Amino acid sequence: MLKRVSRAVTLGGFDQVDALTIGGASPVLIQTMWKDRLSFVDLENQAGEAILERIAALKRMGCALLRFAVPDLEAAEVLGHLAQMVSMPLVADIHFDYKIALRCLDFPIAKIRINPGNIGSRERVEAVLSKAAVKNRPIRIGVNAGSLPLDLRGKTDSGSLSQAEALVEAAERELAIFREFDFSNVLVSMKASSVADTIRANRLLAERTDAPLHIGVTEAGPLIAGVVRNTAALMALLSEGIGDTIRVSLSDTMEREVIAGREILACAIDSGGAMAGGNFAEGSGTAAERAGPRGPGVRIVSCPRCGRNSFDTHGFTERWQPYLYALDKNITVAVMGCAVNGPGEARHADLGITGAGNKVLLFRHGKVIRTIDAGEADMVVAADRAFREELDRL
Ligand code: SF4
Repeated sequence: MLKRVSRAVTLGGFDQVDALTIGGASPVLIQTMWKDRLSFVDLENQAGEAILERIAALKRMGCALLRFAVPDLEAAEVLGHLAQMVSMPLVADIHFDYKIALRCLDFPIAKIRINPGNIGSRERVEAVLSKAAVKNRPIRIGVNAGSLPLDLRGKTDSGSLSQAEALVEAAERELAIFREFDFSNVLVSMKASSVADTIRANRLLAERTDAPLHIGVTEAGPLIAGVVRNTAALMALLSEGIGDTIRVSLSDTMEREVIAGREILACAIDSGGAMAGGNFAEGSGTAAERAGPRGPGVRIVSCPRCGRNSFDTHGFTERWQPYLYALDKNITVAVMGCAVNGPGEARHADLGITGAGNKVLLFRHGKVIRTIDAGEADMVVAADRAFREELDRL
C-alpha cells in the first residue's frame, strides 16, 4: 500500500505571499491559528511590529499557513490589511456569513475556510466559489463535529449515523456542490474532539476523494491532553499516508502547537515502516524530502532531571525551545542535569550542556569542549552566552 495520492492544490504566490503546494508530492505542512481578535489599532506602531515579528518567528519555526477567525466584515478588513504585510500565507476562517468570504477574496488572503454546517444556501456557496475561481483561491471545506448540518446532527443524536459517517456525509455533500460548479481547487478537513471519530472519518473520506486533507483533533484540550490526543490520531493517519496538512489544536500558544506538529511529523518520519502499514515511509521520498525544504531541524534531547542534577534542565529547555525550533540546522542538542551521565548519555548530540557540581560543561559528541566556572557572576547568563556561541559555530 502506497501513501495516499492527493490532488495538488497551490496557493499564494501573489503579491509578497509565499507560494505553497498542498497535497501531491509535497511534504506534510503545519498550520496553526491566531488566538486573539485583531483590530487596526493592534497593527499600528510597536504592537503591529510585534505581531509581524511573531508571525515571522512562527514561520521560522516551521509554520507554513496561519489561519485567522474572521467573525465579521470589520475583521475581514483587518485581515486583508495584515495579508498585505506578511509573506506567510494567511487563511480566513469563516462561519455563517458568505459575504465575509466574498470580502476576504478582495485581499491577498491565500485560502478561505468555510463550514458547510453554517455557511447557508447553495446560492451563497456558488457566489463564493465563483469569486474564488476568478481569483484562483483554494477553499477548504472545514467540517466540525460541533457544527454539523442540522439533519446530520439529528441522525447522530438518534444513533442512525455515527459521528464519523456524519462528518464524511457533510464533507461529501459540499464536495458534490463544488463539483457541480466545476470547482476543484478544494481541500477538506473533518474534525472532532474524539480521536476515534477523527481517525474513522478521515479513513473513510480518504478512500472517496483525492482532495488534500487537513487533519487534527479539534478542541483537544490543554497542552498534555491535546498533544497526546493529536499524536494518537495523527500518527495513525499519517502512518497510513493520510494527511496533507496538520494542526495540533491546543489550549496553549501557537508556538507550542507548531512545536507539537514538528515533533509529530518527525515521529511519523522516524517510525516510518515500523508503524502499521508503514506508508509514511513508502512512496513519499527520503526523510529529508518528507521533512520539507527546511529539513528536520533541531532535535532536543533533554533529561527528565533527578536528585543528582546540578543544572536546571527544565528552565534551560523552556528558555531555549523557541529559539532552537526556529533554527534552520539539522542538529541534535542535549540538555542534561549532571555530569555523571550527561555527556555519556548524549554521545550523539552535536552540542550539549550539563551541570557538573558547581560548574556547567558544554560538550560535543560526548566530549567536553568548554567549562563555565562557579566564579562567573551569573552562571545562567554565562552558560547561555557560551551555549549560543557554540551553537553559532555549528
Ligand atoms: S542526566 Fe543526571 S540529572 Fe539527568 S536524569 Fe540522568 S542522572 Fe539524573
